[in-house]
Amino acid sequence: MNFEFHTAVPGPDQIKDEIPFSGELAKIKEERDQKIRDILTGRSDQFLLIIGPCSADNEPAMLDYVRRLEKVADRVRDKLLIIPRVYTNKPRTTGQGYKGMLHQPDPKKKPDLIAGLKAIRRMHIHVVEETGLTPADEMLYPENHSYMDDILSYVAVGARSCEDQLHRMVASGIDIPVGIKNPTSGDLGVMLNSITASQAPQMFLYRNWEVKTYGNPLAHSILRGAQNRYGQNVPNYHYEDLRRLYNFYEERGLKNPAVIVDTNHCNSGKQFEEQVRIAKEVMHSRRNSGDIQKLVKGLMIESYLVPGAQKIGNDVYGQSITDPCLGWEESKRLILEIAEKL
Ligand code: PEP
Ligand code: MN
Repeated sequence: MNFEFHTAVPGPDQIKDEIPFSGELAKIKEERDQKIRDILTGRSDQFLLIIGPCSADNEPAMLDYVRRLEKVADRVRDKLLIIPRVYTNKPRTTGQGYKGMLHQPDPKKKPDLIAGLKAIRRMHIHVVEETGLTPADEMLYPENHSYMDDILSYVAVGARSCEDQLHRMVASGIDIPVGIKNPTSGDLGVMLNSITASQAPQMFLYRNWEVKTYGNPLAHSILRGAQNRYGQNVPNYHYEDLRRLYNFYEERGLKNPAVIVDTNHCNSGKQFEEQVRIAKEVMHSRRNSGDIQKLVKGLMIESYLVPGAQKIGNDVYGQSITDPCLGWEESKRLILEIAEKL
């Protein structure tokens, strides 16, 4: 193998000892996890909002964001359950560019993954300490989930990972909701196959062990739009798309049919302001059909302090260095409007 084995990585137990998540915080997570589970199983009709920057590239800005978010979350707590997006590892289409805080705790410096692992654990803990909001992250590297499993309340499997066997198997052993995105091609069958695999017991090799899982009944769909063979965006948040997914769920007999609609990515064509209109359209579709109301359990919105995106090195505090995001004022207005529409 043409690898340079650079540095041995401390195991999850070691890192958890070094950077502990207190019992008090664990209790907050337990209570929130139950509420989130109740939404996905249909026991509660609260609506989920997974909202935050495309990438959490900077801890002070991320904490600033979640502090503001917490204030709004409190105002709408009866109707909305808000999960901050604290995304610390980014998939890159061509393998180039910023790969998240895990790789680069400082986006302007060279990758340092062990420092990154510690930095992301600390940031996730600080988010919970300061706001009581347990976060969501993308599970880009399934073997790393063990470093965060005591903190996170929601995990997403990205569009480029949804077809991957190890992602599905690890998802089958996770005891919080795992949202599986449709692949970039938009094939809903692929996404539903992935959910089928994640809901089933599995046996595989994980972190030097032969392991068995029991299946995750909370594995569900995320619609993020698609790209056709000409590279054009094909949204999949419209009424007809939701109806089609509802029918597929009926045919498959999966547990806890649920979808979260991602309002950015190929749904907005990264026209980030469109997220407002898209969110409202989804709320409208829910009001028009009891089936769709039951199926659509929430939205995923990319939002940060400053609207849009910037290049690394521009140093605009609270502006995305990956996908363009809705700014804070627009986001706040949208959250309140979504709550009003419920
Ligand atoms: C994201 O959520 O920022 C992301 C990378 O999404 P996707 O996997 O849908 O491209
Ligand atoms: Mn993104």
